[in-house]
Amino acid sequence: MSTVATDLQKSVQDAAANLYVSALKDIPQDLRDALAAARDRETSTPGKRVLEVIHRNVSIADEQKNLVCQDTGIAVYHCNVGEHFPLHPARIYEALRDGTERATIDHPLRSNAVHTITRENTGANIGYRLPIVHWEFIPDWDGLDVKCVPKGSGSENMSFLKMCIPADGVKGIKQFVLESIVGAGGKPCPPGIVGVGIGGSADYAMHLAKEAIMRPIGTRNGDPLVAQLEDELYGLLNETGIGPMGLGGDVTVLQCHIEHADTHMTLNPVAVNYQCWAARRASAHIGPDGSIDYDREF
Ligand code: SF4
Repeated sequence: MSTVATDLQKSVQDAAANLYVSALKDIPQDLRDALAAARDRETSTPGKRVLEVIHRNVSIADEQKNLVCQDTGIAVYHCNVGEHFPLHPARIYEALRDGTERATIDHPLRSNAVHTITRENTGANIGYRLPIVHWEFIPDWDGLDVKCVPKGSGSENMSFLKMCIPADGVKGIKQFVLESIVGAGGKPCPPGIVGVGIGGSADYAMHLAKEAIMRPIGTRNGDPLVAQLEDELYGLLNETGIGPMGLGGDVTVLQCHIEHADTHMTLNPVAVNYQCWAARRASAHIGPDGSIDYDREF
C-alpha cells in the first residue's frame, strides 16, 4: 500500500531539504563569532595560521554559496514535536528522510551513507535508520521545531564513553573528558565544541553528548552545578595546548557543553561527542498550517 504525502508532510520535507543544504553552507552567527574571537586570542603562529585559513574558507563558502567542508556528514535532526502538531512522527520521519534524499540529489551533495557491513552505498544520504532523529515531545503545543546538524566523520570518530563509578565523582568525569580530548589531538579538526553527556545510562549519556553539541555556542546548562562544570572544563581543555588542528596553541576548543540526566545510584556514565570547527547547524519552525519559519533558533 502506498502512502500519500499531505501538504503538511511536504512542508516538513521542504524544511528538511533546505535545512540540510543551508546548514552545510551557511554556518550560524554564534559559530562565526566564536571563530573570530578564537583568531583574535590565539598567540601561536601555527594556530593563528590555521584560524586564518578557516576564516578564508568560510568567506569563500559565503562568496561562492558553497559548502564549508566537503564532508556532508550524516544528517542528524532534533525535533521538538508539539502534542497537537497534526502530523504523526512516523510521517515526520518520512518527510525528514525524503527531504534529506532530495537535497542530496538536487544539490548535488556527496552521499556518505553505506551499509555498515558491506560498505556499499545505501542511497542519497539515507539508509536503514538514516537519517538519525532525536525526538522530544512538548505538551500543550501545536508546532514542530526541526534542527539539522550534519555530523562529519572526523569529529564523530572522536566519540568516547566511560562507565565511571560513583566514587570517581566529578573528578573522574573531568579526567575522562580531558583524556579523551588530549587523545583525540588534531583528528576531530579542532577547535570545536566538546559535547559531554553525564548520567542516565550508557546509551543515553551518548545521546546527551550529541544533544550538547547541538546547542548554540556558549549557552549554559540550566543547572548551576552543571554550568559550573562546563566553565571549568572549558578552561581546562584550553590549557592542554593542543591548539587549532592539533598544531599547538591557546584555542583547543570553542566551548564545552554538558547535558545531564539523573542516574542509578551505582552508575556514573560519561560520554564525549566532539563537534569540529565546522559546527554546522540550521533550524526551522513549522506551524500546524505548514508555514515554515527559518529564523527561529531553538
Ligand atoms: S571533522 Fe568537520 S571540518 Fe573536519 S573534515 Fe569532517 S566535517 Fe570537515
